[in-house]
Amino acid sequence: AVIVLGRVGEIEWANQKAAEYMGINWPQDGGLRILNLVRDPKLIKYLNADKETQKKALQLNSPVSMETRLEIRITSYGKTQKLFVARDVTSISRINQMRKDFIANASHELKTPLTVISGYLEGFADDEDCPEKWLSYIRQMRLQANRMQNLIEDLLELSSLEAGTENNAADIVSVTDLLSSIVTEARSLSGFLEHDIQLEAEPSLYINGNQRQLYSAFSNLVFNAVQYTPEKGRIRIKWYEDKHGAHLSVIDNGLGVAPEHIHRLTERFYRIDKGRSREKGGTGLGLAIVKHIMVKHEGELHIESELGKGSHFRCDLPKQRIVHIETGLKKSLTA
Ligand code: ADP
Repeated sequence: AVIVLGRVGEIEWANQKAAEYMGINWPQDGGLRILNLVRDPKLIKYLNADKETQKKALQLNSPVSMETRLEIRITSYGKTQKLFVARDVTSISRINQMRKDFIANASHELKTPLTVISGYLEGFADDEDCPEKWLSYIRQMRLQANRMQNLIEDLLELSSLEAGTENNAADIVSVTDLLSSIVTEARSLSGFLEHDIQLEAEPSLYINGNQRQLYSAFSNLVFNAVQYTPEKGRIRIKWYEDKHGAHLSVIDNGLGVAPEHIHRLTERFYRIDKGRSREKGGTGLGLAIVKHIMVKHEGELHIESELGKGSHFRCDLPKQRIVHIETGLKKSLTA
């Protein structure tokens, strides 16, 4: 459907599909404001939004038939006019929903049997009567079962992020506390590899967000730095604020990433070296999860890296999410 709107949103022209999709009839509705005819709050917000917001398409159900899913775009046209275009995306969004449901259901269904298998394997490994020659097979099976469990956890996490059912502003998160416990875990993950891991954090800088999700995003970045940095490597974690917002920066001097891979790292299952990632228990879903969590918090993930030199992963969170809770003097936390 195509509708030409005047300066105050009055209908100047519409094609035939506009009647079918939007219930707007030309020429009868000519001169009337579109928002007087279609009173959908989402559409009202979108039409009144700034140009930046209008760059992204809006999806909504057709006011004529609830079963029809529409994708709406608005572009400037002429000096004061706007071009309103609505496209029927019912089948695409149905297929998309089916894909999401399938992944969520399949992961959920696989979870229980895998828990049972892992439980028995653990029992065998601990059983004194277990024949010696089986132990190495059982160890392999436990390793693989563990990998599958990680995969399922990550797939479920992605599904729940896509479904968007969790509240993304439920907690006032002390990111400094969150990072302190992540660093403790990272040091134990590093173990004999003895990475030099340092945290510098602004304790009064809190975020209004989802604590569990932020933990998942930040720990993914820090654990990746440990996984992809050779022994005794340097890892610096910084939590700070500037005029743009709050930032978590994770810098390592590890393997780094060649330029051609950087923009694809957040794709699901994209791994530069599949063998190495698997060997380290990676699922290839970590950065996809981080990116999703940032989007849910109106934030962004930035990646800079140089092959052989190291990487810098940075999460930017917007100003409106920041909460200041003074805890006395601003102190540098070097755990
Ligand atoms: P994985 O489970 O494989 O670690 P991620 O989505 O977390 O999956 O990361 C995707 C890929 O990005 C990794 O396989 C690795 O090649 C690369 N990568 C992630 N973090 C780093 C890092 N700090 N240094 C170098 N490469 C990294």
